[in-house]
Amino acid sequence: MHYFEYQGEDLYCEEVPLARVAEKVGTPCYVYSHRTLVRHFRVFDNAFADLPHLICYSVKANSNLAILRLFFQMGGGADILSGGELFRVLKAGGNPGKVVCSGVGKTEQEIMFALRTGILMFNVESSQELELIDRIAGQMGKRASISLRVNPDVDPKTHPYISTGLKTNKFGIDIRDSLDEYRRARRLANIDVIGVDCHIGSQITEIGPFMETLSRLSALVEQLRSEGFDIRFLDMGGGLGITYLDETPPQPQEYARAIIDRVSSLGLTMIFEPGRVIVGNSAILLTKVLFTKKGVSKRFVVVDAGMNDLVRPSLYDSYHHIQPVRRVSRHKDIVDVVGPVCESGDFLARDRQLPEVRPGELLAVMSAGAYGFSMSSNYNSRPRPAEVMIRGEEIHIIRPREEYEDLVRGEHIPDFLVAEDPEY
Ligand SMILES: *Cc1c(COP(=O)(O)O)cnc(C)c1O
Repeated sequence: MHYFEYQGEDLYCEEVPLARVAEKVGTPCYVYSHRTLVRHFRVFDNAFADLPHLICYSVKANSNLAILRLFFQMGGGADILSGGELFRVLKAGGNPGKVVCSGVGKTEQEIMFALRTGILMFNVESSQELELIDRIAGQMGKRASISLRVNPDVDPKTHPYISTGLKTNKFGIDIRDSLDEYRRARRLANIDVIGVDCHIGSQITEIGPFMETLSRLSALVEQLRSEGFDIRFLDMGGGLGITYLDETPPQPQEYARAIIDRVSSLGLTMIFEPGRVIVGNSAILLTKVLFTKKGVSKRFVVVDAGMNDLVRPSLYDSYHHIQPVRRVSRHKDIVDVVGPVCESGDFLARDRQLPEVRPGELLAVMSAGAYGFSMSSNYNSRPRPAEVMIRGEEIHIIRPREEYEDLVRGEHIPDFLVAEDPEY
């Protein structure tokens, strides 16, 4: 459910025609619906109303300060994977006491930053990391609260690049080794063991893998408690999927009901780290048609957004629905929608049936709110697109389009190269 709908023949975000956004800020441009963001956060949060819980929004899905701020105002915390994400959380006014720090490669600097800030806990992914956190906490005269990120070896049945809970994945500590690791953790001088954590993958569209994970983890919680561990938190990670094409993921209410049924007797505070399910359908990527061309065996629609702006189709072969911003009745073609980047992998859609489009017309690439802007780059020296938040009739620029100067910020030509003028 989102607020991008046609009124007459024009596609709107809430009360604003997308054509007006393009006029005002240009293209390509990410357009977020405030009402959709609020709604998705609330639906997820309310679904767990019967259970002590904390929603630690996964910052990597979309890390714009305005979006973080919105979720913090609604009581959310954050799941972070880097010092840079922690910096963003603090900038947006997030409560460090609601921050969990995940990630398979935390550096000393990042651990120190997190300890200084006073985050809720680290989700620890290896024994070496555990020892490092213990040592740094000791040096700083602090105690570090931790969960172990347990890899339950459950197949999330999603794209292999976004599966994380299989024994072949780099993430977490194998569930068979986790008990020993917990016992080791308890012996460390500066560590408080307070929880159990997992994250099995992303864009999961069935309830089964979550339930399988939950039963393995709750058994672990009970075992740990029987050994005297004071386990107070169970972190289910993120991963709930959304509809891009015809997937039928469980609704948050359904996901919540299944979980509540199984954990309410444990008396734990549940942590969730949703990313995609909150922000995925809250935004579109607005792009303009530059040219249409007919190759030998294919028709191409060349648009001004490329893989540097939205990499998901190239990286995961992901489907994003594409709609004309102005609906017209024209014949349909099978086309590839491609960007200007110098890579054959630079496409937003392949072999897609679309009504004929003409140069200058606008297209909306749907469901672009998660892993869209946050995965964007400057490849081909393309300034990154603007980000805009629509609230009712208001248009708020939450990140202006980058300028050429932004592309070279920080770059430096050493003196020995400056001394001599280039040859013309
Ligand atoms: C990416 C990630 C999430 C969020 O995943 P979604 O599929 O966007 O919900 C949550 N937790 C961890 C540890 C992650 O790496």
